[in-house]
Formats: sequence, structure tokens, C-alpha cells
Amino acid sequence: MMPTTERIQLIRDYSTLCDHGTRARYVSGCKCLMCKAAASRYAVQRKLARSKGDTRELVDTGQLRDHLNRLHQGGMSHRAIAAAAGVSLPIVSGIRSGAKLRVRRHIAKKIQLVAL
Ligand SMILES: [Zn+2]
Repeated sequence: MMPTTERIQLIRDYSTLCDHGTRARYVSGCKCLMCKAAASRYAVQRKLARSKGDTRELVDTGQLRDHLNRLHQGGMSHRAIAAAAGVSLPIVSGIRSGAKLRVRRHIAKKIQLVAL
């Protein structure tokens, strides 16, 4: 795996290729009005999302997988679970198959609220 400093530099180099008016360009160092506005929009959206419980914190999916197994054994399909939780089908399938080992906490909460 590439060292962290090289990865960060690679991301910065790529970000300078992004259009002005994007947060990526702002993060790469551009402080023009359009990029500042994009960064501000992002900050406002994140604040709103945080107030709704989206902390971007990752949680392990072990217990969630057990919960999904119980729902599945009770007759719910992955599609039905995803619809009931309001999450995408690949998230449910990924957790159940073991491919997805961590998810955002707000996603985990949505799935935990699904009952038979
Ligand atoms: Zn800019």
C-alpha cells in the first residue's frame, strides 16, 4: 500500500484538476469565491446532517449482521429490509454477506429499527 503522505499528495494533485466551485478544489488550496462558496455549502449541509444524526462515525457490522440474519430467517428479503430501513440494497447485501464490515452509525440505526 502507498504511504499516507504519498496518498495525500496524490489526492491534492488530483484536486487541482477539479473545477472551481467544488469543495475538492477548495481543499486543494484554492480560495476563490466559487470554491469558498462550495466549501460553505458543504459545511452547512454537514451541520444539517449532523443535527439529524449523521455523524459519519463508522461502526462494526457484526451485531447488525445478526439482526439481518434474524430478519431474513423471519421471511424478509434483502430488498424488503432495505426498503423498510430506507437504505440501499447493496448496503444490506454487503453487510449480510460479510463484504461490508463497517457502516455509518446513522445507517446502522436505520437498519436496527427494522422489525418483523
Ligand atoms: Zn477556485
